[in-house]
Amino acid sequence: MSLINILSPHVADLIAAGEVVERPASVVKELAENAIDAGAKNITIEISGGGMKLIRVSDDGCGMSPEDAGIAFLRHATSKLRDERGLEAIATLGFRGEALAAISSVSRIELRTRTADAAEGTRVALSAGDIEEMGPVGCPVGTTMEVRDLFYNTPARLKFMKSDRAETSACINAALRCALGHPEVSLRMIRDGEEEFFTPGDGRSESAVYSLLGRDAAKNFLSVSGSDEGVSVDGFVSAPHACRGNRAMQFFFINGRPFRSLTIQAALEQAFKNNMLVGRFPACVLYITLGFGKVDVNVHPTKSEVKFSEEKKVFDCVYYAVLSTLDAANEVKTAEISLSPSTKKVIAPKADFYKKMSAEEFRASQKASVSAPGRSAPPQQTKLNMGDVTKALFGEKKESPLPPRVEAPKITLRSPAPEYKPSPIVPRPEIPVIRETPAPAKAEEKPIIPDYRLIGEVLNTYIIVETEGSLLLIDKHAAHERIIFDRLKRDGAAMSQSLLIPVTWRPDPESLELVENNSALLEKAGFEIEPYGAREVIIRAVPSDTDGSEIAMLEDIISAISSGKAENPMEKIYHTIACKAAIKAGWKTDRRELEVLVEKVLSGEVRYCPHGRPVSVALTRAELDKFFKRIV
Ligand code: ADP
Ligand code: MG
Repeated sequence: MSLINILSPHVADLIAAGEVVERPASVVKELAENAIDAGAKNITIEISGGGMKLIRVSDDGCGMSPEDAGIAFLRHATSKLRDERGLEAIATLGFRGEALAAISSVSRIELRTRTADAAEGTRVALSAGDIEEMGPVGCPVGTTMEVRDLFYNTPARLKFMKSDRAETSACINAALRCALGHPEVSLRMIRDGEEEFFTPGDGRSESAVYSLLGRDAAKNFLSVSGSDEGVSVDGFVSAPHACRGNRAMQFFFINGRPFRSLTIQAALEQAFKNNMLVGRFPACVLYITLGFGKVDVNVHPTKSEVKFSEEKKVFDCVYYAVLSTLDAANEVKTAEISLSPSTKKVIAPKADFYKKMSAEEFRASQKASVSAPGRSAPPQQTKLNMGDVTKALFGEKKESPLPPRVEAPKITLRSPAPEYKPSPIVPRPEIPVIRETPAPAKAEEKPIIPDYRLIGEVLNTYIIVETEGSLLLIDKHAAHERIIFDRLKRDGAAMSQSLLIPVTWRPDPESLELVENNSALLEKAGFEIEPYGAREVIIRAVPSDTDGSEIAMLEDIISAISSGKAENPMEKIYHTIACKAAIKAGWKTDRRELEVLVEKVLSGEVRYCPHGRPVSVALTRAELDKFFKRIV
């Protein structure tokens, strides 16, 4: 009997829908992009119930003929691409012909649309992708797409939706990105009957920024403009004093399409290096324009990730344009302080200085000016930042000495660093595994440690010790885990260690919510995590000494938190950290480290591992004698 089935088009659509339509915000994005592609000058987006109940997008674009309205919901139905040659230079936001098929397969839709030359419009009603009604209707030129009861037929997906509030804000964010990317379109966003924002659509990006991001942000923006070898960048960056605590206000557009790229983010932040406090992030709205053939938007169904054929060129263009803006801003400041215009000219380069230079010339001039007398050295870097990411990305490691190591906690080392397997995160501070924490103030008296003889270790796991009248076997991992756990509990926080290359993580929605809801706990545990887009986070720092993948550790912690009922979640977190930071069974461990563990066990400080398993087992002389039938 054959085991392989060809899935029905309906099931195939449901599977594909999962990629394009993750949540209501994806519908908002796709419908708004269709309206923009249709040449709309005015778009209204209305949502209610977090977009789960209703999303209505109306536009005054070109509309659809009755024939097109009938096939628009089929998979791979698009008016924007004819053949594979078109794929090389995509000028529209859509082209895959997937969005309407995907959305309609998981909702109830009503479409009303009319082209300018038609006397009447067309109405199409669909449920779960099937056309239920279709006929003429009176309506204005343009298109209104009404999506109701999203995911009503996919309960598994429905379960993953967050609160109405969270989905609403994701929808607003998606609409905001569209509006910000298209200042030539007037966009009105209405949430549960109330206007959320309105952009005038006068084609000026400053108007869009002002109406979308608010007066305060607009006031602190400096304008950016530069072009080089077919790449141009325009827009705004925050003045250095107005940098922010996270990257939520960084907006990048490529040919009008919002996109994410660590490289371009690095170009921005590299330009701000030395202009901004460590731990702050510039805000920006940057519009990059380059030939449609030089960017591949067909990387992901949602098209939020792009590939540049000449990434370095785009990097350079953004970097120098932002740098020249910052230099111009500094120049103004210098003038305000004391210098006459003529003096100022001599010491400060002109604002367009960098734009006229090639990247190579600029680098050379930077080197020369750094070594020139009178120019102060850049401030000492105290924390790893995106500049290093850039270097890592472009392999300029040899030019940059490794950044200073993250400061180690104040501890008394009992032994040299044990042999570590290289960790995937570079560089790790070489903090030896075992440490003695200073005794708490109240317990000044030294713990009493009975005489012992450390015989050695077997199976790279158990320590063998002879004490008065008995033989002791100690599980070194369990003992060390306990010591770390106790220390974490006593200190009430874990040391944090920055990652040289921050890691992005896309958890499932439930885990994302847990990360968001437990951010204070995770921070206390030594994690530095920031939202990155609607669905991802960036991990910038992890608890010190922990070994292995930071994502795996977070997943462990998240699942520990979610499974814990009445238990203290911080204890769960400490358990996981202690387990990851402790020496492992199977590792070779230095003798002096073993001694530390033995003494902790013999003093009675450490009895059980954090999970309640015993740390040591004692065999008395009598028990041994019994084994060998010396006594009965
Ligand atoms: P894509 O945008 O990738 O072409 P979609 O599934 O989003 O695919 O849309 C399918 C087609 O439906 C579009 O190519 C376009 O011809 C038509 N369409 C969708 N929305 C609109 C709209 N608001 N106005 C006019 N035509 C539209
Ligand atoms: Mg589309």
